[in-house]
Amino acid sequence: AEQTGSLVDLLTDAARRFGPRVALDFFGATTTYAELDAQVARAAEALRRLGVQRGDRVALVLPNCPQHVVAFYAVLRLGAVVVEHNPLYTAQELEHQLTDHAARVAVVWDKVAPLIRGRGSVETVVAVDLSSALPRLKRWALRLPVPKARAARAAMTAPAPGALSWAHLVDAAGPLAADHPAPAADDIALLQYTGGTTGTPKGAILSHRNLRANAAQGRAWVPGLRDGEETVYAVLPLFHAYGLTLCLTFSVSIGATLVLFPRFDLDQVLDAVRRRPPTFLPAVPPIYERLATAARKRGVDLTSVRYAISGAMALPPATVELWESVTGGLLVEGYGMTETSPITLGNPVSPARRPGTVGVPFPSTEIRIVDPEDPSRDRAPGEAGELLVRGPQVFAGYWQRPEETAAVLLPDGWLRTGDVVTMDPDGFVTVVDRIKELIITGGFNVYPSEVEDALRRVPGVRDAAAVGLPGERGGEEVVAAVVLDDDASTDPEAVRAGCRQHLAGYKVPRQVVVVADLPRSQIGKVLRREVRDRLLAER
Ligand code: ATP
Ligand code: MG
Repeated sequence: AEQTGSLVDLLTDAARRFGPRVALDFFGATTTYAELDAQVARAAEALRRLGVQRGDRVALVLPNCPQHVVAFYAVLRLGAVVVEHNPLYTAQELEHQLTDHAARVAVVWDKVAPLIRGRGSVETVVAVDLSSALPRLKRWALRLPVPKARAARAAMTAPAPGALSWAHLVDAAGPLAADHPAPAADDIALLQYTGGTTGTPKGAILSHRNLRANAAQGRAWVPGLRDGEETVYAVLPLFHAYGLTLCLTFSVSIGATLVLFPRFDLDQVLDAVRRRPPTFLPAVPPIYERLATAARKRGVDLTSVRYAISGAMALPPATVELWESVTGGLLVEGYGMTETSPITLGNPVSPARRPGTVGVPFPSTEIRIVDPEDPSRDRAPGEAGELLVRGPQVFAGYWQRPEETAAVLLPDGWLRTGDVVTMDPDGFVTVVDRIKELIITGGFNVYPSEVEDALRRVPGVRDAAAVGLPGERGGEEVVAAVVLDDDASTDPEAVRAGCRQHLAGYKVPRQVVVVADLPRSQIGKVLRREVRDRLLAER
């Protein structure tokens, strides 16, 4: 569908249609749509007084909380650009991004304010005080990258020096003038850094039109949604593309109640289920596993969840079975990337869904499967190749990275996803792996995901990552890091032997290393590049 308005219009519409309805629930503290709209108008005025203008980037460094939502829409209302950051980032990671986008104003959790001031081009730090929620945030706060644990604990009670108070600024400001120019559909709404799974995150430029198109596509994807009646859980971080859109902008587009969690905490989520049962739950596979297992053990009722939408990483069919048997609802898998706002393929939200696949293209989305060496050549039906995507949700390029942009955005609007996929005769797509992580050994191509699947099937193996390390005769060899079950009585040789039952000889890892844990990204993807670095360092 053609989208003409901005994301802010969706909030204004929701406030008009569902004013008294609860928009946000944060540990039981609620904000209605009318209140949210009014707070956004005041926050926008406060930011305007700080000098924020159309096109300016404004950095947000916040966990999920009501202030995060208010700041998000206030920045957009001014025609300015939101840039989301993980509050757990180290000073170095923040420095890189703040320098890249050069925001002058940052709205941050007061605990990280000392890390932000003076970095990149940041001149003004506005600190959000979350101390009322601190007991619930504490475990999180202790993981903050502030130099010493003692300093972190001190910072928890003292106000951040040199920072302005968000609450004071917003309280003191009147509403923004109603005739203040509104953002246009093609203005940049978001500079969203990619997940950082394969390298340093890149800033994807997403317009209001991109994000509205994706919200409308999501609406069309999920039949039976009732405007003004759904309850969405934000257990994913709003600073990640998937959480930001599927939880926040989508929720607002259907006038849903959004229950905010600073992070996934099983007890907090189960508490909320009793208080305000969820109907729509976007998450990642490990979260569905943990929720379903706990719900079964403790007799928690999850039957209110009519839609569970999994993305970001492969959803094991066993997780689907578990979830659906416990809740009686559907768990369906979709696929997307930051560069596509983010969702672009999805399984039908009906019994026609196919576990193990990521489904079919979204409405008004075209796909092709091509030769990665020459994307002008389409693959024969059924053959694996790189997925290309074209549609209104495809981004405009990476922030100040013309070469990287040209490498993925073809002149005719096709986006190279970097993912290898196959398609079955009915058009259902299966993700094989990322091209970047392909292992080339003795002239053969090995997809690490296939090796990992085989490893996980070996009794005693809980998790696995396969990577290519320099081999003895040049080229690479397959090496695996595995996490064993607590009571496992297996050893690396036995794991290798177990693999041989499922894999051709050249795919069997030359070496298996037992590790305590696998490094993961902010949303929970295994970081194979870090596994590789660690294994190399230990050689
Ligand atoms: P970076 O681009 O910085 O390396 P990233 O690609 O992980 O990080 P995102 O944009 O968050 O950053 O993730 C998009 C990628 O996630 C896709 O390209 C794909 O590889 C993977 N992905 C998304 N959904 C699925 C899925 N359902 N199954 C398998 N992989 C998926
Ligand atoms: Mg990517």
